[in-house]
Amino acid sequence: MIGAKQRFFYCPKCGGKLRYQLQAEQQRLTCQACSYIHYENPIVGVAAIVMNEAGHLLLGRRKGGAYKDLWCIPCGYLEYYEDVYVGIKREFKEETNLDIEIKRVFTVQSNFHDPSCHTVGIWFLAEVCGGRMQAGDDLEELDFFPLQSVPRLAFPTDQTVIDLLAQEVNNGTIE
Ligand SMILES: [Zn+2]
Repeated sequence: MIGAKQRFFYCPKCGGKLRYQLQAEQQRLTCQACSYIHYENPIVGVAAIVMNEAGHLLLGRRKGGAYKDLWCIPCGYLEYYEDVYVGIKREFKEETNLDIEIKRVFTVQSNFHDPSCHTVGIWFLAEVCGGRMQAGDDLEELDFFPLQSVPRLAFPTDQTVIDLLAQEVNNGTIE
């Protein structure tokens, strides 16, 4: 338990009350009626890094919610039954209308900025292979930015990723 604020109160199996109980040396949300343990695991997020010929990074401006008008590397959540490589292509298509080919995993990071929903993000390096760019789904606008001067970002981890990216570009490990 990090920060130990209870986020779930009823058992998803039987509706009984969930309470933290010690299970194998960890405090776990345990159903008081059926003993079901509600494990709290991070959700998997996927994001794709696309750069243009000038080495500028594609970012999207978010449409609504807490992150309205802040920018992010196009991203989304994996569906439960979805393969991770299928998921990133689907999310990227929904948000940018672009088809991508995945080159490789760039980095994997834990995101703790939202205490109500911890995620593990996978950032892929990708190349556009089709489609006409148009913002959709969670995004209102798309644009390319130099790595050294990006607009205000929605998620702090995107800044970490952009810093890593700038380092690799400097080192020549990414063209
Ligand atoms: Zn239960």
